[in-house]
Amino acid sequence: MKMSKLFVQTLREFPSDAEVVSHKMLARAGYIKKLTSGVYNYMPLMWRVLKKIENIVREEMDNAGAQELLMPFVQPKELWEESGRWEAYGKELMRLKDRHDRVMCLGPTHEEIITALGRDVLKSYKQLPVNLYQIQSKFRDEVRPRYGLLRGREFIMKDAYSFDTSQEGLDKEYENMAQAYTKIFNRCGLPTKMVQSDSGAIGGSVSHEFMVITDTDAGENDVFYCDDCDYSANSNHAVSKLVSAETDGAKYFAKAEILDTPNTHSIEELSKFLKIPSTLILKTLVYIIDKKPVLALIRADKAVEETKLMNAVGGIEVRIASSAEIAELMAEKGFDAVPGFIGPNGMDGIRIIADETVRDMKNFVVGINQTDKHLVGANLSDIPAIENYVDIRLVEAGDLCPQCGKPLKVTRGIEVGNIFQLGTKYSEPMKAVYLDENGKTKPYIMGCYGIGISRTAAAAVEAHHDEHGIKWPVSIAPYHVVIVPVNIKDELQMKVANDMYEKLLKSGVEVVLDDRDERAGVKFKDADLIGFPFRVTVGKTINEGVVEYKIRETGESLTLKPDDAVQRLTDIIIAK
Ligand code: ATP
Ligand code: MG
Repeated sequence: MKMSKLFVQTLREFPSDAEVVSHKMLARAGYIKKLTSGVYNYMPLMWRVLKKIENIVREEMDNAGAQELLMPFVQPKELWEESGRWEAYGKELMRLKDRHDRVMCLGPTHEEIITALGRDVLKSYKQLPVNLYQIQSKFRDEVRPRYGLLRGREFIMKDAYSFDTSQEGLDKEYENMAQAYTKIFNRCGLPTKMVQSDSGAIGGSVSHEFMVITDTDAGENDVFYCDDCDYSANSNHAVSKLVSAETDGAKYFAKAEILDTPNTHSIEELSKFLKIPSTLILKTLVYIIDKKPVLALIRADKAVEETKLMNAVGGIEVRIASSAEIAELMAEKGFDAVPGFIGPNGMDGIRIIADETVRDMKNFVVGINQTDKHLVGANLSDIPAIENYVDIRLVEAGDLCPQCGKPLKVTRGIEVGNIFQLGTKYSEPMKAVYLDENGKTKPYIMGCYGIGISRTAAAAVEAHHDEHGIKWPVSIAPYHVVIVPVNIKDELQMKVANDMYEKLLKSGVEVVLDDRDERAGVKFKDADLIGFPFRVTVGKTINEGVVEYKIRETGESLTLKPDDAVQRLTDIIIAK
């Protein structure tokens, strides 16, 4: 490819809406061009990267015994009603109508379609197991599309679905996929951590995410892990052993009574006022889950993990209540307390979930829905409306590992892949069954396995860059090499550059010749920004018969004869 012909537009500045490195660099280097919120054109450079990732994914999925197919992007409502997800999926599902008023959606994932396909084709145990995958654009109407390709609305995903006749079969395939995923991400130059996770809208019981570890904003997930054993989990799923704490307030409160606690709006103010540790305060938080208020009770030194709370009530959408909503709830129940004084009693008809930390509390302090007052010396028998005690606690760094008891650490991660054991979550409601050896009908035992292709590309930029631009791993770089003649009017420089270009092309190296009539500095800047793994500069030293050979990753530079440079590149790139 000649640089003068490449369909690319590099920008002088980072786009103003770009917050993370990958978005900034991919936009500035001309890889992506935004069409509308969360929707991007993949320019030729980007498309080459994406195809390389796709091909690695294809090779490893094929090696693992999966078969590629392609399912439709537009899906009928009826199948989503069969699975029960038409309502349950929430606003991310982009719903639309065709000219005959038939209701459809844009595919955010394909469990319904593959299950219906399996149901039609896989009639006998003899046809099982099977694992089918596709690579395709998905659409999710994300509440906050951001970070460029990391969280788009339209994005490219590889999604695979396995059908088995037993849990053992699924376990085996799950492990097979986990191994394939590790290989895929390693080949993309992206080491990942496999962590336990919540199953979210896809559902099922067991799931793991593949995280690219990063300490930047781009890592939207907190990952808790243990250095002493192999425990690691997304914060939405992480659990920990409780460190012992003072949870009996008997020495502070001789009896249960209502005390004036003026202006104690925060836990800190309240514990200071009463001269007690926060572990003796039961905190009451109001959440809105699927449009209804839910109270979460937790020991006040701990925080609530929203996904765990949502799962505890079987909801699909969770958020903390606004002050207006709290006021409304208070009015409805006949109270006028302000936040800081809310409590669980007198809340008939409202679901109340308590964290496990609450179970051990005795003679504690709790809000009673009266501003500037609290009940002290309270006990759980005073709060009969608690529906359930479940772990809804957000783990913190330093909490103890649930497996080995050592302190947990925290880091941030970008989720590039996710594998799920679905079991019969889709096959049962959709009546997707086969005949077993004894002629009995059984639902398939299913798994599903996703990789964000476009997110993986962006995660690679997050992991491989410096202040000058991208440093693509060779395996997914759009081109391997750029040849930069310093002065295109110099006949010898151009001759050598062209000659090397032809030789590299012939040997299968993907090469760009920067034949633009620009200053060398401009070309070097673009080369660094675009992130070619290797740069060969043909300048004045060609009069002594040598060129500069530079490695983007390390910044190392060598002086080589042109043929030696060609040979070296061919050895490194093609022999690999
Ligand atoms: P997230 O938690 O980041 O919203 P998810 O868990 O909902 O993602 P999955 O349903 O597990 O996503 O989809 C499989 C893979 O698709 C993810 O691991 C991720 O790599 C990719 N992916 C999901 N949502 C997006 C998105 N909005 N933009 C780009 N890639 C995405
Ligand atoms: Mg996921």
